[in-house]
Amino acid sequence: MTSLLQRYYNLVGGTKHEAENGAWIESFDPYRGSPWAEIPRCGPADVDKAVTAARKAFEGAAWRGLTASSRGKLLWRLADLIERDAEKLARLEVRDNGKLFAEMHGQLRYIPEWYRYFGGLADKVEGSVIPTDKADIFNYTLREPLGVVAAITPWNSPLLLLTWKLAPALAAGNTVVIKPSEHASVSTLAFVDLFEEAGFPPGVVNTITGFGRDVGDALVAHPLVAKVAFTGGDATGAAVAAKAGEGIKHVSLELGGKSANIVFEDAAIDDAVRGAIAGIFAASGQTCIAGSRLLVQRSIHDEFVAKLVDFARPAKLGDPMEPETNVGPVTTTQQLERVLRYIDIGRQEGAKCMLGGGRPKDGVLGQGWFVEPTIFTGVENEMRIAQEEIFGPVLSVIPFDDDEDAVRKANQVAYGLAAGLWTRSMPRAIRLAARLEAGTVWVNTYRAVSYTSPFGGYKRSGLGRESGKRAIEEYLQTKSVWISCAEGFSNPFVMR
Ligand code: NAP
Repeated sequence: MTSLLQRYYNLVGGTKHEAENGAWIESFDPYRGSPWAEIPRCGPADVDKAVTAARKAFEGAAWRGLTASSRGKLLWRLADLIERDAEKLARLEVRDNGKLFAEMHGQLRYIPEWYRYFGGLADKVEGSVIPTDKADIFNYTLREPLGVVAAITPWNSPLLLLTWKLAPALAAGNTVVIKPSEHASVSTLAFVDLFEEAGFPPGVVNTITGFGRDVGDALVAHPLVAKVAFTGGDATGAAVAAKAGEGIKHVSLELGGKSANIVFEDAAIDDAVRGAIAGIFAASGQTCIAGSRLLVQRSIHDEFVAKLVDFARPAKLGDPMEPETNVGPVTTTQQLERVLRYIDIGRQEGAKCMLGGGRPKDGVLGQGWFVEPTIFTGVENEMRIAQEEIFGPVLSVIPFDDDEDAVRKANQVAYGLAAGLWTRSMPRAIRLAARLEAGTVWVNTYRAVSYTSPFGGYKRSGLGRESGKRAIEEYLQTKSVWISCAEGFSNPFVMR
């Protein structure tokens, strides 16, 4: 039977493809709790086609023969097209993952800057001439692309997180196979249409959709994949890195977090309240950098919690497309169940629920996959709700006594993606920023990122960095070229 849902296709070698077995996956609208589109349910045979197309493009003159400056210009052209289509792409993301249009449109309007930044960097990648200790040798290095990059992305910010991989990978001269999450693939499938229009040769960018278990392993294990750039949960990341290790492939991992947002008694309290809200209720808590552990100095704890609850209580849950909505649904039914399970765990562990704590029942909110913004107090640092990534709108408030206690509690966690500090004391901010085990530390702000600044995790939050000029290094390898200027070749049985 023909489906009534709109179908989106993979891009492989410059042409549109459905899965070889003809299977489809329904993509759900989390606001309405119903399917709205279909994407191909691919298998290992489709993976092989996509990787082979990417490798062919990597070896082909149309891409290999471009100068670095020309690659940069293609990325600039792409940036202009994304700017043109930002609203359309943002609408697709909202439909697929339920995040606020204001958030996704903001991301889409910002994404072009990554392509411009890395496009500009493409022809600034330089090798060096190395003064070796050998007379008569001219030694220099070449910085070369790796080959085919597998870019595996999650559902929460599909195009932004893809861009963090794609822009440096292409600037460096690689080709790419993208595997988006099956929960939110549509924006990626629509986005890759822009590559032909921008003038990229066919096969430079390819997509493969399907369940992680059907296509993920096959992609990571494929012998023609040289690097895996992964964003997702730490358990999947560990499995991906192990599989990539078997094939001696390059790997970078952007994983989960359980970030501490730390409020000192000398903070600008009203700003810190907003910072705490931004840390956990923006995007319904579905961001890797969620400030899901709010450490509050004991002397201001009760006053701060009261202000926080007052600020969060009127937050409007609703249609993510509407500008007045503050909190949208969570993206998947699995995520809904997971978040509700953690709320139960928090209660069982003895934490006190000060706000929310369940699903809203009324009207359309009851149909969609909504969770009320939830605040727990009386949380001990050892509790599961203080240690495990929930990835939903659930905040654990943990009191601390002084700087030492704050640092100890903030660092006592397996993750290390980000941290926030709220204080008017710059000496304290500088001192503590150096002691926090996190890849990003924000002082008196939260959730700020830029194409110019490195982003990535300490500890279980990942390996490697995205954004900032060093990110291009993740997609390059170094060749050392030795040229002898000497006459003749001396004793061949000893090392030179
Ligand atoms: P996930 O379950 O780990 O999935 C991430 C991606 O990996 C998806 O495309 C998934 O495909 C795929 N995958 C699953 N099994 C695989 C396998 N065996 N081999 C290869 N790929 C496989 O994560 P998620 O639930 O989509 O996203 C939420 C997580 O991402 C959270 O932990 C969050 O903190 C993290 N995250 C991190 C960052 C960061 O920059 N550090 C940013 C955003 C999100 P399917 O979905 O089709 O299974």
